[in-house]
Amino acid sequence: MTDATILITQSAVEQFTEQYLGSLGATIEKHGNRWEITVPDDVTTDLPADRFVLLCNDAATELNENERHLHPESSFFQEILADASERQPTRKVVIASEDTQIEIPAWLQENNISVNDATFTPYYDRSAIAILYRISIETVSEYQSELLRVTAIDIRSKKRLPKLEEIFLESTLPTESQIESQPVDIDKSTSDDLIAQTREQIVERVQPKIDEIHQAASRAADAEIEEYRQMQHQRLEELEEKKTHLLNRIENISESIQQHSDEGNRVEILQKRKEIKSEYDDIESELEGFRHRREQGYPEKQQEIRERHALEVTVSPLTMTQIEYEQGEIDLELEKGTVTRSVTLGYGAGVGITEELDCEFCEQTLGEHNSLRAIHEGLQCSQCYSS
Ligand SMILES: [Zn+2]
Repeated sequence: MTDATILITQSAVEQFTEQYLGSLGATIEKHGNRWEITVPDDVTTDLPADRFVLLCNDAATELNENERHLHPESSFFQEILADASERQPTRKVVIASEDTQIEIPAWLQENNISVNDATFTPYYDRSAIAILYRISIETVSEYQSELLRVTAIDIRSKKRLPKLEEIFLESTLPTESQIESQPVDIDKSTSDDLIAQTREQIVERVQPKIDEIHQAASRAADAEIEEYRQMQHQRLEELEEKKTHLLNRIENISESIQQHSDEGNRVEILQKRKEIKSEYDDIESELEGFRHRREQGYPEKQQEIRERHALEVTVSPLTMTQIEYEQGEIDLELEKGTVTRSVTLGYGAGVGITEELDCEFCEQTLGEHNSLRAIHEGLQCSQCYSS
């Protein structure tokens, strides 16, 4: 399962992996979703073996020896991404606007409205920061899951910039030469602040995954508690049975005392009865303890089991990338049928449109779920167009 906001797509993962393995000198032979990897002898890496197979986007298949899954959540991908990032834990990249394609928002790509012209005019430089986090989710006993997530925010406005998260992945590639890399020039208190702010956001994004693991751990704890209850119940029954058996024996002995008149025998039998009586008392008090704990619902055992299945979530920043980009405005020339209309919006290179646009009729904001529908009498959204 992936969280809804994850931006790393399967194709980005495959591209990254291909280039990363290539940079290590490995060769890839592709047979559909099955990639056969050969690593040359003279390369020392942490890769699983000299020859191994990657199964792309096929998480359901059981793995044979020397096979690994490759998808955004796969451990193989997480490992190489962490490895590639850690080679350069902090750095600064500069996005040159002439190298980036102009991003046309999704709400403009529907309803037969065409963009005849798009011109970006940069006004000033802005800085953003992309932080790669490792989120470890574990319980003392069995579960362990590790996720890598990147978040990018503008340093001044603190706004999340999802498009830059994709750029981060591209710029992490060891072969990437288009993006210029320099030392970071953000002071420590600013970066500490940014880490504190984004850490929470990252946890929110992976919350569904945390909940999923939490539920599985709770179910495991419930099952263990139930098993313990049944074991206790069984033990209680065994003791009850033993108690009845001892009681019968005491009664038998009492009868035989009356039948024996011989003094020596009587002493011996009385001694025997005393021993059995003491064993009976021990069982009775043991049973008392069992019954008491059962009435209480085994609080100590429950606590011990729940503690063993409790989740521990650790969020640690792995790398930090300062991203310099240009902020300005974009002029879009729209056309539908015989009508043309131009729109000017805030825009960042690599970031996309940074300003919201409202419908001129109902003032609802255009977006992923409310596309631009008509332009002939002004900009009109899909939600109010038909009604
Ligand atoms: Zn509207």
